[in-house]
Amino acid sequence: MHELSIVADLFTIIEEKASQAKASRVTKVRVLIGELSGVVPELFRSAFNSYKKGTIADRARLEIKITKVKFRCQSCGREIRTRDISAPDFSHSCPFCGSKEVELISGRDLYLEKLEIET
Ligand SMILES: [Zn+2]
Repeated sequence: MHELSIVADLFTIIEEKASQAKASRVTKVRVLIGELSGVVPELFRSAFNSYKKGTIADRARLEIKITKVKFRCQSCGREIRTRDISAPDFSHSCPFCGSKEVELISGRDLYLEKLEIET
């Protein structure tokens, strides 16, 4: 399962940060999941909850925030959200100026945004 390997990577980061901060326990974990990341939040949550057992984040609460897909047009500099786009299969051209020079600036990645700990 895709989510399980992502959770395993996430725990590597959590444990690293927790030990840097000399934490005795992690109480809350907040992650940002991009709409385009391919991660299913509910699967991610259940993978998290089974993985956390026996780790420093044993009793940590997981908060998930979904980040919307956003593009930036290199020609006119405007930000493009999916609601600006009529077709679901966005053709990667700017709806404002028609340029094809658009770049995905958010919505693909999964980040650990915040960690709450007790020392
Ligand atoms: Zn444009």
